[in-house]
Amino acid sequence: MSQEILKIKNLEKYYGKRQLLTKALKGIDLEVYKGEFIGIMGPSGSGKTTLLNCIATIDKPTSGQIILNGTDITNLKQKQIEQIRNKDLGFIFQQFNLLNTLTAYENIALALTLQKKPYQEMDKAIQRIAKKLNIDHLLNKFPNELSGGQQQRVSAARALVKNPSLVLADEPTGALDSKAAKQLLSCLTYLNKDWKSTILMVTHDAFTASYAHRIFFIKDGKLFSELVRGNDTREQFFERIIDVISVIGGEQDVF
Ligand code: ADP
Ligand code: MG
Repeated sequence: MSQEILKIKNLEKYYGKRQLLTKALKGIDLEVYKGEFIGIMGPSGSGKTTLLNCIATIDKPTSGQIILNGTDITNLKQKQIEQIRNKDLGFIFQQFNLLNTLTAYENIALALTLQKKPYQEMDKAIQRIAKKLNIDHLLNKFPNELSGGQQQRVSAARALVKNPSLVLADEPTGALDSKAAKQLLSCLTYLNKDWKSTILMVTHDAFTASYAHRIFFIKDGKLFSELVRGNDTREQFFERIIDVISVIGGEQDVF
C-alpha cells in the first residue's frame, strides 16, 4: 500500500450566518497517496476553491479533519501552520503571483530562504528544478520580461523547489494559452513521475484534468464521483471526463 499523504474526513465549510449561510462544503471524504496526480473538477460554485483553500490552511473548516502526513492541520497554532506552509505545501495559482522586483531566480529562491539552507545547496536545487521546467535560460529575467507560460513555470518552480509533500494548484492553466498550458502540464507530469511529487490540481477544464491520474468531481459541496485513468491514454481519459461533465451539468467556470 502506498503512503497516505492526505486524508480528509467529513469536511464541512459554511460561510456566513443564518439566512445568509452558504454551505460550501457538506461533508467531503477523500484520500490522496504519495505520487498521485489528482484533479478536482466541478461546476462553478461547487466548492473546489474552498476545498483547496482548507487544505492550504488559507481557510478554516467549520468541521471535519484534514490530515496531512499524519497530522490534523485543522486545529494548529499559527506558528505550526506557517511551518507546514513553508515546508510541506507548494502553491501554484491561476495568477502567477511572482514578485516583479525580483528576478525569476530570486522568486524561486524565496521559497527556500525560510529553510535556512546553505547558499550552494539552494543554488543546486534552483538550477535543478529550473532545468526540469525548462526555464534555466530565463533565471536572470524579471517577470515582466517573460511570457505568461514562462511566468507560470517559474511559479511552478517556486512551488516545487523545496520538494513539498503536496503541491496545490488552483486553475494553474486558467490564464495560459493552449500551447503554454500543454508545456506546463507536461512539466508537471514529468515532475510527478520523476520526483514522485504529489499534485492536487483544481481545474474546470477537461483537457487540463486529463493529465491527472484520478479525478474527484464535486457538486454542491459534495463528492459526486471519482474517475481513475487506469490504462487509458490521455485522449481516452479526456472522453470519459467529458461524459461525467455532461452528467453533472451545471454551469462550468468560465475564464
Ligand atoms: P468553486 O471554486 O467550485 O467555483 P468556491 O469554493 O469558490 O467554488 O465557492 C463555493 C460556494 O461558497 C459558492 O456558493 C461561493 O459563493 C461560496 N463562497 C466561497 N467563498 C466565500 C466567502 N469567502 N464568503 C462567502 N461565501 C463564499
Ligand atoms: Mg474556484
